[in-house]
Amino acid sequence: MHSSVINRYAAAIRDAILAHEADIECLDREIGDGDHYINMKRGCEAIAGLADELNTLPAADALNKIGMKLLSTIGGASGPLFASFFMSMSKTLKTSDTITTLQIALAFEAGVQAIIQRGKAQAGEKTMLDVLIPVATTFQQLAEQGQSDKDIAAALKPIASDGLESTRNMLATKGRASGLGERVIGHLDAGAKSCQVMIDTICDLIVSGQ
Ligand code: ADP
Ligand code: MG
Repeated sequence: MHSSVINRYAAAIRDAILAHEADIECLDREIGDGDHYINMKRGCEAIAGLADELNTLPAADALNKIGMKLLSTIGGASGPLFASFFMSMSKTLKTSDTITTLQIALAFEAGVQAIIQRGKAQAGEKTMLDVLIPVATTFQQLAEQGQSDKDIAAALKPIASDGLESTRNMLATKGRASGLGERVIGHLDAGAKSCQVMIDTICDLIVSGQ
């Protein structure tokens, strides 16, 4: 994986986050403090501003740079969590010379574990992890089976959507929504929505061979 691919994915993610402004903003307003969309937008724009520099770096170093940038630009709970994800992905990818799909899957899993450690949350607490954990598990399983990138990407799209939908009827036990009790039932989690949008965007690029 070359850093130009990372830049391409980052640009597509930014477009997709901007296109989902209304729903992401609305979800965090309903059961959070309404800043999640702004945080995501700020992070996407900061990464776009790094594009030239990222192009000169090996992929693992580019991911670390993205993590550090997110740490200093996204506020809220989600900034340090996304930063941990990218820095941990970077560390895992650094251990190998060539980057295979399985190594990306293992790095993704390591990134999700870093979010779990940093945020002390688990699946079922109405957070981004309800999308990220099932995606990481399936990604790793399919990569270990040697499935093609296109097949893996096509399979991960519904896993991410189902993970997002699963947050609807969960109580929130982590993050700002955790003080709201039963009031959160019926609402999707904003961070889970952002993660679903980002994963869906990258999977669409891979499925269409871009
Ligand atoms: P803040 O909650 O500080 O306003 P954001 O609005 O940017 O920050 O992000 C909120 C999202 O962060 C939530 O919707 C949830 O998905 C995620 N989140 C919050 N706390 C945690 C946690 N401990 N572990 C995992 N994800 C979390
Ligand atoms: Mg918020």
